[in-house]
Amino acid sequence: MSDKFHDECGVFGVVNHHDASNLVYLGLYALQHRGQESAGIASISADQTMSEGNIGAASGTTGAGERLIARNSTQIHVEKEMGHVADVFTQERLQRLPGQIAIGHVRYSTSGGSMLCNAQPLVASTSKGPIAVAHNGNLVNGDELRSRLESDGAIFSTMSDTEVVVHLVARSRAPGFELALVDALAQVEGAYSIVAMAPGKIIGARDPWGFRPLVIGRLNGALCISSETCAFDLIGAELIREVRAGETVMLSESGEIRTIDQRTGPREARCIFEHVYFARPDSKLFGLNVGQTRKRFGAQLAREHPIDADIVVPVPDSGVFAALGYAHESGIPFEYGLVRNHYVGRTFIEPRQSIRNFGVKVKLNPVAEIVIGKRIVLVDDSIVRGTTSKKIVRMLKDVGAREVHMRISSPPTTGPCYYGIDTPKRKELIASSNDVEEIRTYIEADSLGYLSEHGMLDSVRESGESAEQLYCTACFTGRYPVLMRGQHHPEVDGVKVTAG
Ligand code: SF4
Repeated sequence: MSDKFHDECGVFGVVNHHDASNLVYLGLYALQHRGQESAGIASISADQTMSEGNIGAASGTTGAGERLIARNSTQIHVEKEMGHVADVFTQERLQRLPGQIAIGHVRYSTSGGSMLCNAQPLVASTSKGPIAVAHNGNLVNGDELRSRLESDGAIFSTMSDTEVVVHLVARSRAPGFELALVDALAQVEGAYSIVAMAPGKIIGARDPWGFRPLVIGRLNGALCISSETCAFDLIGAELIREVRAGETVMLSESGEIRTIDQRTGPREARCIFEHVYFARPDSKLFGLNVGQTRKRFGAQLAREHPIDADIVVPVPDSGVFAALGYAHESGIPFEYGLVRNHYVGRTFIEPRQSIRNFGVKVKLNPVAEIVIGKRIVLVDDSIVRGTTSKKIVRMLKDVGAREVHMRISSPPTTGPCYYGIDTPKRKELIASSNDVEEIRTYIEADSLGYLSEHGMLDSVRESGESAEQLYCTACFTGRYPVLMRGQHHPEVDGVKVTAG
């Protein structure tokens, strides 16, 4: 079982490029860290002949991929499958995605469950024309809207919130897809970064709180939209700007970028965990480079929790940049005392015979020559259940580390997330019911220090702005900016939720 919070999705889109689906494939490759459960691409073309030849075994569950939605001569082609981007897409599959416009999605298993039917993009033939939609986030009123739509006769074929948006678009009385999407988004609440495709355009939207990132880029005459800028770097696109919180923006075939709606929320609530862990360190997120922000977290951590030690060791890869910041600020040498095996798949089967620490040893191995006899500052981004931290501390001590001082580059994680992040239940979070000393005892570290809330927010503070009013910190502070609706979430009744 993974001992991390997990981002749930990544989205990417390209408009006006002869190789749109190939670019989306590369974009999804760069966004793979945001979701490893399934991957999908939808493209749009007016080439009926080619599309006829592409009709394959339509399937929502067999893994054969699905296509197509045909309306007049315009067609949407979809290829999606469970698995990593590299495994899902072959040259043959990409060739079945013709057209100058394409969007894609990588998904981590969410409350919707781990099934191909929940893989995205979702496509539909509506009175506004054929559309495809991909979504990153979680709607806090998704269950409520679904019940209302079902009682009105809507038939759902997936469990994802994205389908709620598709139904709202299809039923909207607003003329045309653009206004219908704006109308649909006015009815949803919660966290979303959406990328939608219709003939001639891609529409991107962020919720008024701006929980999840979404950025616009340009590649020669083509426009791109992505969860993170690292995907632009891979395809050689330049960053133009972020989609603003609450903005719905249209990217057209003609190269136009037009705001079609701008909603405002009480305040912004950018997910600070994107900076702590989810986003790639080479991405620029909410105006800041992620790696540099993590270094600032680490430097602040060193100021808040100094210790006499010989080396600073990161838990790779998540702790690397914070450890660099800690080492630089403290003057203690940085060493790779743990090496990560990057090729461990999700399907790894543990042997029946229990071997001590086997699970974590498959992923991380200490370098004895570096750690023997050393007083180590061990830096990680967060402690979720505490089980992995305990194994790593023990592993380092087993190979001869003299002392292990754990330092965490975020505050104690005390609550679950309702905004598109896969988190364990509150009672499974070690910091929800244990103080720092109790956690230290459990993980068997010689000392334990967490970055303070103030220190974390200070590290993302932009000049003249209050980070408290720009970022969501709910899983650390219990100040949830948007409340869950209804009684459908198993955690709601047990969680002390306060409006942020
Ligand atoms: Fe991010 Fe807020 Fe969710 Fe924590 S609760 S993961 S800060 S959106």
